[in-house]
Amino acid sequence: MNHTARILNGIEIAAQIKAEVAEGARELTADGITPGLAVVLVGHVAASEIYVRSKVKTCAELGIYSEMLTPPESVTTDVMLELIADLNARPEIDGILVQLPLPAHVDTRRLLEAIAPEKDVDGFHPVNVGRLQSAASHGVQAGTALAPCTPAGIMEILRRSDLPVAGKHAVVLGRSDIVGKPMAMLLLNASATVTVCHSKTVEIDRYTRDADILVAAIGRPGFVTAEMVKPGATLIDVGINRVTDAADVARFFPGDEARATQFAIRGSTLVGDIHPAAFALAGAYTPVPGGVGALTIAMLMHNTVLAAKARRGGAARHGETAGEYSKAAAGKA
Ligand code: NAP
Repeated sequence: MNHTARILNGIEIAAQIKAEVAEGARELTADGITPGLAVVLVGHVAASEIYVRSKVKTCAELGIYSEMLTPPESVTTDVMLELIADLNARPEIDGILVQLPLPAHVDTRRLLEAIAPEKDVDGFHPVNVGRLQSAASHGVQAGTALAPCTPAGIMEILRRSDLPVAGKHAVVLGRSDIVGKPMAMLLLNASATVTVCHSKTVEIDRYTRDADILVAAIGRPGFVTAEMVKPGATLIDVGINRVTDAADVARFFPGDEARATQFAIRGSTLVGDIHPAAFALAGAYTPVPGGVGALTIAMLMHNTVLAAKARRGGAARHGETAGEYSKAAAGKA
C-alpha cells in the first residue's frame, strides 16, 4: 500500500457531525423544542430492521425524540397514506422516514410524495429533489435545505478533509435517485465538472481515468481496478458488498491477515465498488467499512435537527407560525 494515500476516516467525521447535531438538539431543547423523528418500518426485512434500530439508537444518543411505527407486511397503500398524513399533522414530529424497500404491493412513489417536504429528512420528495437542482440548491450548500443523506455525507467528507471540489473533474459511477443523481447535483453545485456513468456507458475507464474525484456507487464488488484510476485522485467508495466466497476474499485482499481471520470467523467480509488495490494509487480514499457508510445516519440526524430548526426554531425565533415560515421559505425558493 502506498503510504502517501490518505485514508478519509468516515467514523471520525461522523462523530464530529453527531457532536454538532447533539449541540443543535440541546439548543432547541433549551428553547422547549425537542427534535423528533418518526421511522416507519413495514414488515420484517432483516437488513431494514438493523438500519432502523441503529437510527433509533443514534437519536437517543443525540437527544432527538424518536418513534418507530411498524405496520405489518400486509399493510395497504391507503393505510400507509393515512399514517403519513397523521405524522405530517403532528407538530412534535420534525422528520419522517419510510424505510425502503417496501413490499411490492405498496406504492412507494405515492408514499414518498405524501410526506410533507419540510419533514422529508431523506430528501426524496420531488420538491426537495427540485430544490437540489434549482437555484434553491444554494440552500443545500448553506445547510438550510434537505439533501439525501449519503451524498450529503460525501460532501461533508470532502469539505471537512479540505479536499477542493471547485474546478475538479468529478466522475460519478451510478445514477440511482438515492445516491448517483443527487451526488452529481451536489458536486455540480459545488462547481465541479461532473460526468455521470452508468451501466450503458461505453468504455467507462475513459472517464474514470480522468477523474480527480471518483465516486463509485454501483453495487459491484471491486469493479474499479487500479488501471481505471488516475494516480493521486480522491476515491470515494459508496459500495457495500458482502463477499462470501473465499476466492474473492483472496483476490481482493491478498496477504491481508486481518481480513482472512475476519472471514474465517464470520464467513463473509465487506468490499466496496473500488478494488482495494486501487486505493494504493489514490491521493485520498474512503475505506470500506469505515468510510461513507458511517456518514449516512449522522446526516439523517443532521437533517432532522435542520428540519426542526426550519419549521419550529425559525417560527420560535421570528414569531412566525409554521405555515407562515413555509410560505416564506417557499417564496425564497
Ligand atoms: P442501485 O439503485 O442499484 O443503482 C446502481 C447504479 O449503478 C445504476 O445507476 C446502474 O446503472 C449502475 N451500474 C450497475 N452496474 C454497473 C456497471 N457494471 N457499470 C456502470 N454502472 C453500473 O444502487 P444504489 O442504491 O445507488 O447503491 C449503490 C451501492 O451503494 C450499493 O452497493 C449500495 O449498497 C451502496 N449504498 C451505500 C450507502 C451507504 O450508506 N454507504 C447508501 C446507499 C447505497 P443503470 O442505471 O444503467 O442500471
